[in-house]
Parts: sequence; structure tokens; C-alpha cells
Amino acid sequence: MDKISICPSCKCNNFKIVINIDNNNIDKFKKLDNLYYDNILTSLLNFDKVKIAKCNRCLHHWYFYQPSNQKLSFMYSNKSFKDKNSYIHKKNIEKNILILKKISPGKDFLDFGSGLNNLWENIAHKHNFNYFGYDPYMQKKKKLKNYFNSLSELNYKKFDIINVNQVLEHVKNLDTALEEIKMFCKKETIVKVSVPNVLRPREKYIKKFYKEWPYNNKSLHTMSPYEHLHGFTAKSLKNLFLRKNFSIKHSFKILFFFNHFYIRQYLNNLIPLLSTTEMIFKFNIKD
Ligand SMILES: [Zn+2]
Repeated sequence: MDKISICPSCKCNNFKIVINIDNNNIDKFKKLDNLYYDNILTSLLNFDKVKIAKCNRCLHHWYFYQPSNQKLSFMYSNKSFKDKNSYIHKKNIEKNILILKKISPGKDFLDFGSGLNNLWENIAHKHNFNYFGYDPYMQKKKKLKNYFNSLSELNYKKFDIINVNQVLEHVKNLDTALEEIKMFCKKETIVKVSVPNVLRPREKYIKKFYKEWPYNNKSLHTMSPYEHLHGFTAKSLKNLFLRKNFSIKHSFKILFFFNHFYIRQYLNNLIPLLSTTEMIFKFNIKD
């Protein structure tokens, strides 16, 4: 298992292990595994290495030991891991596309980590974007017109808009993912990112979340093993992108037409618990 021993977002080494498997939660772990994963986690994992770290500066959470790619693809090929994203509401996608349409410098739209779900494609087309889906882990069974799984297949094309929706929390190496996103950027490319907020799990209170992890007898937590490999906060998401040459996109158009989005983006800085970890960045080319 690969060890991540500095904060993947702010790169500091001021962190602590906040959750691991011990005598108090091992039964809950096995119950979750049995209910959702056909016991594959128990058969695959070394319990000593199931630990969640938390950065004391940006509050980013991550699995201290990340499963190998081979183990991850084995887990993700299990039926229970699939289609967790399909709950994204159509209306929500439309709202996102409308915001992007107002501020986009052009029509070329990359859906980074698209999978094969064509909800975004349909709505992007409706609003006259040229949609391209990109997902390196996607196994195409047949030739799909607008979906690609390698940079070369896309001819190293640059895009006006890049949508990174509910993707980064599943990625092992965030630096590599950001470098890959940058390969598709030109000056002023807009990158819209959305990830779950680890400070606002469904259970509402983070203390309760630590107490109940990995399973509360009702539903999966944001950081149930290994639904998500990373748990972002508004601060950690922002840190990650600023460190990689992006800046927050400020726009009067967003303020004027979508003030709720603007207010939420600012709430991120003020009240992390209420924030949405949904942000719009702009790429700045380094001189
Ligand atoms: Zn950090």
C-alpha cells in the first residue's frame, strides 16, 4: 500500500491519525463489508493499515495507506461500488452548465473523469457546448463518439471549460490529477470543481462521524472505506488548486446572475461547516 505521509493538499506534515480499525469498530467494519461489498474488503485488507489522517492546518482527510491500483480496481469492479454518482440531479447539472455558459471564453467543454454517464453530455449539447468526456479508467466497450480515455486520443487538445464533478475524492494522487487537468488548460481556462465536504457528512457532525466510522447501521459515510480516498474541506480544495497555478475565478456575471453560488463560495472561507466545496477556478499560465 502506498503511504501518503504529508498533507496532499497543503503539503505540511502537521497531521494526526484520527481513525483506525480497533476492537471497538471492527464488528461495524465487517458488517459494512458484508452488507455493501460482499466481504471483499476483509479479504483484501491488512486492518493495521486502514487509517484516516487529518491535516491540522487545512483539515483535509485522507487514507494514510492507499490501496494499490490493482486492489482499487478489484474493489471498484464490485457491483456495490458502482453508480454511486448517479444520484446527481438533472436540475443541478443544468444550473451548473448555465453558470459556466455565462463565464466561458469559448465552447469546448471537457468533462474530466466523466465515466460513461451521458447526463452532462446531453445538457452541455443543449446549451451549444462541444462536449468531450475524458476518463482514463473508462473501459470503452464500443466506440463512443464523444468519450476518450487518453490524452493522445484527444490530440492534446486545450479546452475553454473543464468540469471536474465528484472526481477528485476518488483519485489516489491529487498532484498527478491536477497536472493532468493542466495539460488540457490554456490561458483563462475555467475549471469548475465539486467534491463532497468532509466536514459536512450526511451525519452532520464530524465528532459523530468519527465515533460511528465506518458504519452507523444506516448508511455509508463520506469516508467509508474506500468509497472516497480523500475528504476535502473548502480550505484544502482551494489550497490544492492555488498551489498548482490556478486562482479563484471572480466574475460580476456570477455575482449578478448566480449570487447564491457567489455567496456560497465566500461562505467557504467564513464558515467551513456550511460550505459546499464547489468552486470555480481560472488557470494562469506561468511566465
Ligand atoms: Zn493540509
